[in-house]
Amino acid sequence: MGDYMIKAILFDLDDTLYNERDFVFSGFLEVATYLGHKYDFSIDKLYSDIIDIFQEYGRGRIFNILCEKHGFDEDINRLVEIYRDTEPQISLYEDAAAILKKLYNKYKLGIITDGKSSVQWNKIRALGLEEYMDRIIVTDDYGPEFWKPSEKPFLEMINYFGGEPDEFMYIGDNPNKDFVACKRIGMGTVRIIRGIGDHMGTFLSRDYEADYIIYSLLELEKILSNLNCKG
Ligand SMILES: [Mg+2]
Repeated sequence: MGDYMIKAILFDLDDTLYNERDFVFSGFLEVATYLGHKYDFSIDKLYSDIIDIFQEYGRGRIFNILCEKHGFDEDINRLVEIYRDTEPQISLYEDAAAILKKLYNKYKLGIITDGKSSVQWNKIRALGLEEYMDRIIVTDDYGPEFWKPSEKPFLEMINYFGGEPDEFMYIGDNPNKDFVACKRIGMGTVRIIRGIGDHMGTFLSRDYEADYIIYSLLELEKILSNLNCKG
């Protein structure tokens, strides 16, 4: 282990290791099913309405708009709860599953993810990530002020594994918040750009952009072996 320049590799979760849209859509189906049974209405129709509203307006008021459209007198918070409590129908991206298998005997591995704690832990369990990870931090467990781009979860990882910041690498998809704290601390950063995702078209100033851009997590191997040659 001591021969590697990089000691620990830390990952973002949503849209880095799996497609968040799969989670979102499985939540939509739960809500459509609930409403369909309650109002004796076509679940397929409700589900396709939700997707249409999502595509037109994005997240935020989807269920309000749906209920207004059909005249359902519904507690929106209850629908949000159903959405959040959905058993996630998700699986790891193929490259994610492959790279974790390759890396996990050689490096310490971790996750730092934002999002509502119970929801994120449900996803982590559904994806079977605990078996690969030496440490998982759901920033929400520390409080909303410790979501990225807070430095705290990254410092916590350094504290946990020991070593210098430049022995750590963080891989994420969202330049708005994934890399700015790591860079300030001195961690290496890698941005994954996929064919699908909310941030694939976002490019920001230097402070926010990662050291490396990759299009498949399998490219990590090459980056790591180059760094290890230099180290
Ligand atoms: Mg993400």
